[in-house]
Amino acid sequence: MKGLMMDYPLTVTSLMRHVAAQHGASEVYSLTVENPAHRTTYAEIFRRCARLANALRRLGMKEGDRVATMAWNDYRHMELYYGISCMGGVLHTINPRLFPEQLQYIVNHAEDRFLFSDPLLLPLLEKLHADFPTVEAHVLLSSKQAMPESSVPNLISYEELIEGESDSFDWPALDENTASSMCYTSGTTGNPKGVLYSHRSTILHTYASGLSDAININSTDSVLPVVPMFHANSWGVVYCAPMVGARLVLPGPKAGDPEALVAMMNSERVTTALGVPTVWLGLLNYLEATGQHLETVRDLVVGGAACPRSMMVDFEERHGIHVIHAWGMTEMSPLGSVNAPTASTGGMDAEAKLHQQLSQGRAPYGVEMRLVDDDGGELPRDGKAVGRLQVRGSWVAHGYYRAEESALEDGWFDTGDVASIDPEGFMRITDRTKDLIKSGGEWISSIELEDVAMAHPAVAEAAVIAMPHAKWSERPLLIVCLKEDAAVDADTLLAWFEGKVAKWWIPDAVEFTDELPHTATGKVSKLKLREQFAAAG
Ligand code: ADP
Repeated sequence: MKGLMMDYPLTVTSLMRHVAAQHGASEVYSLTVENPAHRTTYAEIFRRCARLANALRRLGMKEGDRVATMAWNDYRHMELYYGISCMGGVLHTINPRLFPEQLQYIVNHAEDRFLFSDPLLLPLLEKLHADFPTVEAHVLLSSKQAMPESSVPNLISYEELIEGESDSFDWPALDENTASSMCYTSGTTGNPKGVLYSHRSTILHTYASGLSDAININSTDSVLPVVPMFHANSWGVVYCAPMVGARLVLPGPKAGDPEALVAMMNSERVTTALGVPTVWLGLLNYLEATGQHLETVRDLVVGGAACPRSMMVDFEERHGIHVIHAWGMTEMSPLGSVNAPTASTGGMDAEAKLHQQLSQGRAPYGVEMRLVDDDGGELPRDGKAVGRLQVRGSWVAHGYYRAEESALEDGWFDTGDVASIDPEGFMRITDRTKDLIKSGGEWISSIELEDVAMAHPAVAEAAVIAMPHAKWSERPLLIVCLKEDAAVDADTLLAWFEGKVAKWWIPDAVEFTDELPHTATGKVSKLKLREQFAAAG
């Protein structure tokens, strides 16, 4: 027997209607190149979304078209989020920190028809636009007056594009499984892969993010996403804050500037901020050096990489700020787990509480987790067994854009993380099977670095592992075994990488060894290397 309730599709459009009706007056503050304190409201943003949609329709945009953004966190980027998805288009947020070849691959693979870029990224766009043949129009997120001279043909300003358009748009009634946005994630090998979110997955993820045991925000909060809007939808905050009516404070290009962040957090009375450990470390050092305080921050959400113990202790004990440790992936929209105390936490001593709080937390409803061994056998949730962490759920990808094969193993998505899960569901990441290094929230491929090292005439075999690093969370360490009778010193070898990979990818140090450890299948054992070189960092 079927229930008799309405079939009310879960769409970003219905979220937009809700926010306009319930929280239209809530403020959105942005720092942009043109304005250090731009203030608007959700209602005004949605009016401008309608103008944007009218303009895009005028340019010939159709449902399903991909529209790309290369932009920082501000109100115009937010208008693109809602305007494009609610038209039935696919918002494609691009990480401008990727290499030119990756950017070129991504735009061409997604076949983006329009590209909206931040003025600060114009030099990058000028270098690359000729490699983006599918892009029919380039728009700069700028006013008409502030438009710079540019070699990009027919570059138009965002304000000129939407000027004179109507404030209303007949938003289409979309099926909730329609694609709403996409984000490419860098794989271990090969090209980046496109994760394609749907309206339904986005809305369900938004519900879960807003729970009190998750990001814990409501309409009295002021929320600052330091995490960029091109990193898995700013961890969903661009949807979650409006859903509950919280105010948004958007730091524009200043997300990496502790001085600007602290000033903004205090003047805008920020209660919750979200970002990767590297950002919070810079901020802690700045607070220490200047003797300043975060006057209104209640919760800091730390994710994207493991939260260091000292960071949690410093924020909690010296600054009275609660740290919420979260884990996720682009393929998970990204929320996978979040740490909140349970009834039994109250009875623990301080050390046990801290140990629990440092774990990656528990899965919200909508995500299931399991641990498997190398043969696919399920492992117990006893807090001791360690295995490959697999997930499934309403906002987990089952495949990648324009890839034939499923991304699943037996119905589950393998995260590439290695973890334990305790009987209460607290998950703790202990290692990683994917061959990547996460430095300051961005990926470095160990395989690519190994390829470069092995191309050096003196190198017989090379391996790159992630070493824990106080500032960047992880940095690459190069371990090499030289050819017989060959000689090269560390500096010469590191100089070999210059011009072959991005500067920040170049390993910090080289260790020379007579032999690399191998697994039974003949692969370099990264596990053994990590044990062997644990002290080198
Ligand atoms: P994000 O945008 O959240 O950084 P990515 O898909 O780029 O998403 O990276 C996901 C990976 O980052 C995870 O599989 C895991 O290896 C790592 N990661 C994310 N959060 C944490 C965390 N809290 N602790 C340890 N590793 C984490």
